[in-house]
Amino acid sequence: MGRLQLNDLTKVFESDGSDIVAVDELNLDIRDGEFLVLVGPSGCGKSTTLRCIAGLERASSGSILLDDRDITYDKPKEREMAMVFQNYALYPHMSVRKNIGYGLKITTDLSKSEIDERVEDTAELLEIRELLNKEPGDLSGGQQQRVALGRAIIREPEVFLMDEPLSNLDAKLRTTMRTEIQQLQQDMDITTIYVTHDQTEAMTMGDRIAILDQGQLQQIGEPLECYHQPTNRFVAGFIGSPSMNFLSVRQNGTTLVHEEFEYRITEDTRDALDESSRDLTLGIRPEHIRLTDSDAQNAIETTVEVVEPMGEVTYAYFQIGDQTYTASIEGERRIQSGEEVHVVFPEPKIHIFDGETGEAIK
Ligand code: ATP
Repeated sequence: MGRLQLNDLTKVFESDGSDIVAVDELNLDIRDGEFLVLVGPSGCGKSTTLRCIAGLERASSGSILLDDRDITYDKPKEREMAMVFQNYALYPHMSVRKNIGYGLKITTDLSKSEIDERVEDTAELLEIRELLNKEPGDLSGGQQQRVALGRAIIREPEVFLMDEPLSNLDAKLRTTMRTEIQQLQQDMDITTIYVTHDQTEAMTMGDRIAILDQGQLQQIGEPLECYHQPTNRFVAGFIGSPSMNFLSVRQNGTTLVHEEFEYRITEDTRDALDESSRDLTLGIRPEHIRLTDSDAQNAIETTVEVVEPMGEVTYAYFQIGDQTYTASIEGERRIQSGEEVHVVFPEPKIHIFDGETGEAIK
């Protein structure tokens, strides 16, 4: 079993006489066998959260439960968890065989032959048997990462903790390893908490993702739920690539008034906004912007400034007022930089946030 609960987990660091709240009353309930991705920008408290779970940092307040057992102040080795680090943390002068078996040697009373057998099985699983007699210095980054995974897997932990395990690999290998880690996690069915700042990893790997900002949970949900129904402007801007476009508007009845254009909304949308004349933020994802005719409703006239053909899609950057926005146009439609176009934000696809708090309204 491996259900992990964080209740009001808080970690405060003292630095130069002032307090830094790295994790701020974080509540998470991670299901047995779940793959949860903790994601957020640099400094949002992801690693500190993971280190508190692992027992490498002492929580300032709150509690951590593993299968209802309070482990908040247990020693790391009492926690039945295995952590994989960004820099792999392999012992440089030990063979791969010894690196993988070392954890079992020091924490169990298994015999040498039993450990050898488990090392062989683990190496088989990760397809690294031919590397067993080499040292880490002789391995590529991807191979070192597999050895680091092997060292975690062999302990058969209740929970895997992974801190940016792929960030030292090149883009191609990262994609391969992403799939391998997912497959491994599914086969082993072990609760996994995976920290990354990369929203693509979050979207593609997690059963659910938890998005943090400034130590606080912004949203937890399935990846597509966070993409389609972000709870606030922060999540909306963080999830999705390229990022969502934001425009400041004010509501006037069934019109959203921007400095450069007016946008007619349906009465249903107006009713959802409930309060007239307030400052709002209109959000539209690049992939939802359409090119349109000049006489279409809500068409905005603009000039394409830069075009980036990516193959299946073309990114077009255009300006409204003094801000640049991005549209992602499907197919190989030839748009030229300097071309005058009309764009439209289809109403079912627009998001509306409170201009002050950033909370999602629609
Ligand atoms: P990154 O992706 O850059 O590693 P992160 O989201 O993992 O960022 P943390 O490393 O958890 O963020 O840091 C959260 C906050 O706590 C940051 O403001 C950081 O400077 C601070 N912090 C982390 N460790 C310590 C420490 N040992 N002493 C003081 N402040 C710390």
